[in-house]
Amino acid sequence: MGRRKKIVEQCERLMDKPENIRNIAIAAHVDHGKTTLTDNLLAGAGMISDDTAGQQLAMDTEEDEQERGITIDAANVSMTHEYEDTNHLINLIDTPGHVDFGGDVTRAMRAVDGALVVVDAVEGAMPQTETVLRQALREGVKPALFINKVDRLISELQEGPEEMQKRLLSVISDVNDLIAGMTEDMDDVDDWTVSVEEGTVGFGSALYKWGVSMPSMQRTGMDFGDIMEMERADKRQELHEKTPLSNVVLDMVCEHFPNPVKAQPMRIPRIWRGDDESELAETMRMVDEDGEVVLMVTDIGIDPHAGEIAAGRVFSGTLEKGQELYVSGTAGKNRVQSVGIYMGGEREEVEHVPAGNIAAVTGLKDAIAGSTVSSVEMTPFESIDHISEPVITKS
Ligand code: GDP
Repeated sequence: MGRRKKIVEQCERLMDKPENIRNIAIAAHVDHGKTTLTDNLLAGAGMISDDTAGQQLAMDTEEDEQERGITIDAANVSMTHEYEDTNHLINLIDTPGHVDFGGDVTRAMRAVDGALVVVDAVEGAMPQTETVLRQALREGVKPALFINKVDRLISELQEGPEEMQKRLLSVISDVNDLIAGMTEDMDDVDDWTVSVEEGTVGFGSALYKWGVSMPSMQRTGMDFGDIMEMERADKRQELHEKTPLSNVVLDMVCEHFPNPVKAQPMRIPRIWRGDDESELAETMRMVDEDGEVVLMVTDIGIDPHAGEIAAGRVFSGTLEKGQELYVSGTAGKNRVQSVGIYMGGEREEVEHVPAGNIAAVTGLKDAIAGSTVSSVEMTPFESIDHISEPVITKS
């Protein structure tokens, strides 16, 4: 059986186990390394070859993107990762890193429960870091931090251990100040801030494919001293093999981001203003695959063969071919032609997609990004407002 087919089968087996699912987004200020990091994760999960990672090809599905060198469409990909002897399904939504596409970032946040925020160690938190954090927190999405380009501190800027520690701690405290300012009115500020000790902060180099976190140091025995030594000695391949970035990040995702069963009871009251005592509210909170079908469309893509594809989060029920579903704001129903999941830039058809997953659906001809699609008429989800920000020109 081919590698790809094997991965699809693994994903399908895990789709029915919401406890083992993590729906995540990676978000960053432009050029901080989101695409390079994503490629690392895909390579780590066996989706693309190790050599291709870092060449920014896997997620850049639109020709336009390759030309511009920025990620435009929020592409989606599912992968599996074994953490503590349990296989996990990770549904990753790629978010555009450019200010002009802020609306897409916000929509992507609706579909996920965790956001990995990538910050360049040299530049530190930048305006779009703030915007993506705001978008995540407003949606009740838990942030974690990855400080990228640490190789530059070591090899290029020749920083010593103390200087480097000071710089990294200041990036973390800047990010936590932003988070604290945005969560003042939320239940527990500490639940949202990131912490090295708790393992919600990772460090590394997406370009050279190594990474480190407090839990990874315990697992691999590789600490910052070892890393600095090897990076300086140009032993980057060895560093990658000893403490691969994809493991550090995917372990962090499995350990710290909430699964849908944990996330939905907290997120549904934030994003849906319907009757919270109704059966529908209960099935959404419970991630009940036997409940009424509720899908929130977060992206519409075009497939040259299949036409329009609606991608979104299934909050309740199970999506299947042939279902007749209501689309919010329109009259009548649309018939589901096919359901699938994403593998890299491609869609893979599957029999069904249950609650807690991110699905790719054809046949929803009236749906737009932001539509609520359901098997019963219902109060639609809150609209996804675009958080605007000043236009920043790329230097
Ligand atoms: P994005 O705009 O956030 O998707 O950023 P990219 O992944 O496209 O990376 C922007 C630039 O930074 C590219 O030239 C990458 O090769 C480079 N880059 C990414 N990660 C690292 C890293 O860890 N170290 C160094 N030195 N460069 C990196």
